[in-house]
Amino acid sequence: MNRRPSFPARLPASQPVATRRPATRTPVPAGAAPAPSGIGLDSGAVRARMVHKLAAQGITDRRVLAAMGEVPRHAFVDSALVNQAYEDTSLPIGLGQTISKPNVVARMIELLLGGECDAKGLLGRVLEIGTGCGYQAAVLARVAREVYSIERLRGLHEKARENLRPLRIPNVHLLFGDGMLGFPKGAPYAGIIAAAGGEDLPPCWIEQLAPGGRIVAPTLMPTGAQALVVLEKTPAGLKRSVLEAVHFVPLKSGIA
Ligand code: SAH
Repeated sequence: MNRRPSFPARLPASQPVATRRPATRTPVPAGAAPAPSGIGLDSGAVRARMVHKLAAQGITDRRVLAAMGEVPRHAFVDSALVNQAYEDTSLPIGLGQTISKPNVVARMIELLLGGECDAKGLLGRVLEIGTGCGYQAAVLARVAREVYSIERLRGLHEKARENLRPLRIPNVHLLFGDGMLGFPKGAPYAGIIAAAGGEDLPPCWIEQLAPGGRIVAPTLMPTGAQALVVLEKTPAGLKRSVLEAVHFVPLKSGIA
């Protein structure tokens, strides 16, 4: 049985989320996708073009390309930005934060999927640090069995909940808290992915990573520039690779 969740799926009655409110039942008929607003009815074609471009830019993992082709990115940005939703650009999501450009989201998830997956090619539990508008969590939900996504800004945590609600994704669990501490209750994770860049990987992330798992995170280099770091927990020990330069918002401690 293919357990890959499909949109729209029903929300479970309860989720292990500290701030969960009762799910409002938006009247979306079973089997129907939420109507795209402001981008015409053919957002699928626009997404297909985006996926084509991602492939041309070097994204090869079919799981990632499929997920990027399925998640309605325009549903996560302000109505004024809807027309830019499928362009290869980062976009403001409020409170001084940004959603990464599609190429960076795809690249990071592709790197995460280099870790141990099940027979269906799905990752197990994944922890995302920095929910933001919830877009990347929705993409992750297509390639992992469970996604725990933590956000330190209450305004964005709530915005992500609003954005995700109509999509009814049963395997995304939104958490409000400081992701620098990870989320020990959900550990161990097959993958940990950070959408904000810190000085170095917090040791608790490494502790919460399952054997065979990977952390993908923007990290400050001694030069002061950010680079993508991949840390793998292998039987032979930790393997750290420093990849290309990136520009992420800073990883901050505490909640606000
Ligand atoms: N993945 C997001 C991108 C969000 S931008 C998306 O698809 O929209 C990065 C986010 O990381 C910001 O919302 C910021 O508030 C959050 N962040 C920064 N430090 C954090 C921390 N310690 N814990 C949780 N979230 C954090």
